[in-house]
Amino acid sequence: MNDMTRIHPFLDGKTKRMLIGGKWLEAASGKTFETRNPATGELLANVAEGDAEDIDRAVAAAREAFNGPWSKVKPAQRQLILIRLAELVEQNIEELAALDTLDMGAPITRTRNNRNRAVGMLRFYAGMATALHGETIDNSLPGEFVSFTLKEPVGVVGAIIPWNAPLGSSIWKLGPALATGCTVVLKPAEEAPLTPLRLGELCLEAGVPPGVVNVVPGFGETAGAALASHPDVDKVAFTGSHVTGQAIVRASAGNLKRVSLELGGKSPDIVFADADLTQAVPGAGMAVFANSGQICSAGTRLFVEQKVYDEFVGRVAEFGKTLRIGDGRDPDTQVGPLVSPEQLKRVTGYLDIGRQEGARPLSGGERLTDGPLAKGYFVPPTVFADVRDDMRIAQEEIFGPVISAIPFTDIEEVIARGNKTQFGLGSGVWTRDVGKAHRLARAIRAGSVWINCYQAMDPAVPFGGYKMSGYGREGGVQHLEEYLNTKSVWIKTD
Ligand code: ADP
Ligand code: MG
Repeated sequence: MNDMTRIHPFLDGKTKRMLIGGKWLEAASGKTFETRNPATGELLANVAEGDAEDIDRAVAAAREAFNGPWSKVKPAQRQLILIRLAELVEQNIEELAALDTLDMGAPITRTRNNRNRAVGMLRFYAGMATALHGETIDNSLPGEFVSFTLKEPVGVVGAIIPWNAPLGSSIWKLGPALATGCTVVLKPAEEAPLTPLRLGELCLEAGVPPGVVNVVPGFGETAGAALASHPDVDKVAFTGSHVTGQAIVRASAGNLKRVSLELGGKSPDIVFADADLTQAVPGAGMAVFANSGQICSAGTRLFVEQKVYDEFVGRVAEFGKTLRIGDGRDPDTQVGPLVSPEQLKRVTGYLDIGRQEGARPLSGGERLTDGPLAKGYFVPPTVFADVRDDMRIAQEEIFGPVISAIPFTDIEEVIARGNKTQFGLGSGVWTRDVGKAHRLARAIRAGSVWINCYQAMDPAVPFGGYKMSGYGREGGVQHLEEYLNTKSVWIKTD
């Protein structure tokens, strides 16, 4: 712990408390939980462990703010708060990046690179705050009626986020809430609660009134479940696994709260023989190895045209071997650890399953235990060849740096096989043929299709799922709609 105080100013050895109604509080139960650095296993901080009672307090604070002072705040003032928050995130980006790296392991180069995205999202929502509007609609009733719509904030939002991008996920929930005039109870993932708590401090500094943003760390089955089922929460915005997404939908039934879900994936990444393979090799590699594969839209089912299959898959495996694996704090690190012992168990379990199913590892395939890596949860970039569509490693989300490489021969076949999954989040196509590119863009049943690139994201472009990858969109104008109700007003004028 002492060592950590020198590493990061936020880690001062004190228990990290929860933000409720503008105050930093212990859990009602007095309980705390530990959060650790996945690269070393070291304790980073003890964190107040929120439970149903804390969620109740936070929802009450959010409701009070929503009904009271926050409802009087004009769009331009909300915009100014978002602009200030964007400035504060920019000024503190080194510290926020380091906190993400310590808490969930991603390379510091990656968490630093999130700057443009984090700041850009806040600026986008700031811009949207004064651009929201209803419509005047001509009606055909006999007599004289004026009809128009109002856009109103949906109310108290429960935001439940995963650990794979704590800063970005927090902003993706807080930004639209602040822009539309909602209030929020943010429940960070138990694996990585630190950055969301620090962001809570920055919200207060930016002038977010008490109760508008509340941050309650705790476990999914307790704090998360209490938030999802809470009768006074109007909407849940959830990002996480599809199994938890299903539990959230069930929990939402009590008061039929609005739900938006950004869930998992098993995204097809399709490489045609006519592609620029020099570009496609690192492209397809990083579509899975980035963030150690802990990205919901990772292109984990790599379909490669038979003619170039052996060559291409071999080159991706070689590319994976060149990536530097290590502690995320090292600026040379390109692949950090998995987030937790549980994720390590899950991913190495799938490595065993893959071998048992008859897939052939061309690279990686085993946990790393050399020297200092032994203390962390490191799995190297892994490419499995000889994968068949029906194997579990071709159907189930692994959430690790593991590519399942599958050959195909023609375009109709790969469309059908690419879509043969319960998920529909991301997808990739690598080709020089513009006709093929357009055909695939329409034929793939997924929320994003990346052509000759992978994982491109922009605050103005919507992102979200088809099928079991969830519903609702984050990013873009559509994102704001998820936080708004439409009210129709009729006035008889004759
Ligand atoms: P992962 O298994 O990858 O961590 P989860 O879906 O379990 O993904 O976790 C994402 C978020 O959902 C975390 O904040 C977690 O605490 C929360 N969560 C887990 N289970 C539940 C639940 N039953 N109800 C509400 N939230 C939950
Ligand atoms: Mg979990």
